[in-house]
Amino acid sequence: MELQRALKAILELNDRVRIELENADIAAERSGTSLVDPHYWELEAMKGDISVLLNKVRWMTPYENDQPTIEENVKIEQLRKFLEANALIPHIETSIRTLVEEPLQNLEPPSLPKGPSFEAKSVTRKAIREPSSGAIGNITGSSIPDGNWMLTYDDGPHPTNTEKVRGILGSYSAPATFFCYVEPAEKYPSVLKKTVAEGYEIGSHSWTHPFLTRVSDTRLKWEVFEATDELEAIANVSIRLFRCPYGDGASNRTRERVVISRRRLIHAFWNVDSKDWADSDENSVLKRVERQMSRVGGGIILFHDIHDVTPKVTKLFLEKYSANQSFGSFDDYYTLGTPIIS
Ligand SMILES: [Zn+2]
Repeated sequence: MELQRALKAILELNDRVRIELENADIAAERSGTSLVDPHYWELEAMKGDISVLLNKVRWMTPYENDQPTIEENVKIEQLRKFLEANALIPHIETSIRTLVEEPLQNLEPPSLPKGPSFEAKSVTRKAIREPSSGAIGNITGSSIPDGNWMLTYDDGPHPTNTEKVRGILGSYSAPATFFCYVEPAEKYPSVLKKTVAEGYEIGSHSWTHPFLTRVSDTRLKWEVFEATDELEAIANVSIRLFRCPYGDGASNRTRERVVISRRRLIHAFWNVDSKDWADSDENSVLKRVERQMSRVGGGIILFHDIHDVTPKVTKLFLEKYSANQSFGSFDDYYTLGTPIIS
C-alpha cells in the first residue's frame, strides 16, 4: 500500500536524523562545545519537519505495535483515499527527498567552537525560545533530555474535564500547559481564568481550530493574532506559545509559522501523542504514551482535556511516573533557565 510505504520511508529517515542529532549532542558534550551550530539547527529543523510529516501520515493510523481495530482500519482507508484524492503521496515523497535525503547526503561533520558545556546548554535554551519561523521558534521536544517531560493539554477549556485534570495535576504538584482556543474559552471563561489562577501556563491554539494550511491569508492572521489577543483578554495573561491545530502548518518556514513568529509567539509541538481522542480505555492510552516515551526518552506529551478518558489517564500516568521522572513547564525549561541537565 502506497501509504504504508510512505510511512515506512518517513520512519526510516526519522531514525537517521535522530541518530545524527544524538551524535551532534554527544560530540558537543564530549568537547564542551556550543550546540548553537548551523549543522545542529539544520538537523533540528529536519527533525521538526519530519515530525510534522509523520503526524500528517500517522495521525489516523495505528502505531506499529498496535493491533488495528476495525474502526482504525476504516480511518486508514479514509486517509488513504484522502491522500490519493488530493495527490498528496507524491508530495510527501518529494518533501522527504528535498527536506531530508539531499541535505543528509551533503552533510559535513560538525565543526563546533569551544566553550564550557553548561554554558552551551544555557545558550541552546536561550536560542530555542526566540520567535522565529525556523527551528529556534519551534519547540519540538526532541532536544529535551531523557527523563524530562512537559505535559500539555489541548482544545479546552472544558466545563468538567479541565477541572478534573487540574485537580489531579495539583495533587501531584505537576506543572502543565493548556493550549486553548477561543470558541470554548468564550463559552467557559471562568474555567480558563481558574487555570491561570492556579498557576498553569496557557498557550494559544487559534480561534476556531481549523486546518490552518487551508484558510486564506486574512483568516490565518485572524486565527493567530486576534485569537491570541482574545485569549489574553479573557485570561488576563500574556501568551508566548502557539500550537497549530492538528500540527497543520507547523513545519519550519511555512506561511503559518511566519505569521505565528510575527505575532512574537513560539510554536510548541510534541513528540509523544496520546491519541486520547481515539480511545476510551485509559490503560490502552497509557500504554500508547509509554511506548512512545521509551522511544524518545524525554519531551512533550500531548493530551486533550476535553475527553472523559484524559483525567483517568493523567491519574494513572502520575501515579506511575511522578516520583521517578521530572516534569516542567515551558517557563521552567526556556525562560527561567532552570538547568535541565545539572
Ligand atoms: Zn487541537
